Amino acid sequence: MPLPKPVSICVYCGSRHGNKPAYTAAARELGAAIGSRGWQLVYGGGKVGLMGEVADATMAAGGRVVGVIPESLKLREVEHRGLDELHVVPTMHLRKQMMAERADAFIALPGGIGTLEELYEVWTWRQLGYHRNPIGLLNTDGYYDDLLRFMRHSVAEGFLSAEQMAAVQVDTDPQALLLSLMSQAAPQSPGAASDLSRV
Ligand code: AMP
Repeated sequence: MPLPKPVSICVYCGSRHGNKPAYTAAARELGAAIGSRGWQLVYGGGKVGLMGEVADATMAAGGRVVGVIPESLKLREVEHRGLDELHVVPTMHLRKQMMAERADAFIALPGGIGTLEELYEVWTWRQLGYHRNPIGLLNTDGYYDDLLRFMRHSVAEGFLSAEQMAAVQVDTDPQALLLSLMSQAAPQSPGAASDLSRV
């Protein structure tokens, strides 16, 4: 009999560490929270920056890690060779699609433009009905305060619905965010919740 599918959390985060130790601490804490529950991390497959931290912490705590990296970034992001699964895919689009298909929930940690793009993309896909998985934003040390202000501005100016704004859960605590997202995750019945073939 096949083993049950582990709960799978897709994490988007910086390929750098950022300037404060709090960012590294948050990435490690989130990885430990995923791994200690026997859950699975899905991420971009690199071993640099916060990406490497969350992957190492997940594995150290006993979780599985799935990396998905595009061929063109394999060298630049220094792919992590110790993962349970490392998928090298031809394009960035396939990477993001595969990461999303493997996920029950999404969390963005502090990061740069790659992280923001990934957060907004998966949020857009939810708005379009391509998936119904919960999305979390980890606001470590106020890193995303100004982005949250801008999101509220988007609502106030009539470009973003309050309902879509509420689809992104925000917390400063990695464990609290993870548990709150998973309490909302749709039970996975094949094909029912998501249709990411449309992206
Ligand atoms: P960053 O937050 O900029 O450090 O990037 C974090 C992750 O986003 C890395 O895995 C990058 O490969 C990825 N990334 C960078 N640029 C893009 C892009 N244009 N589209 C999607 N992902 C990207």
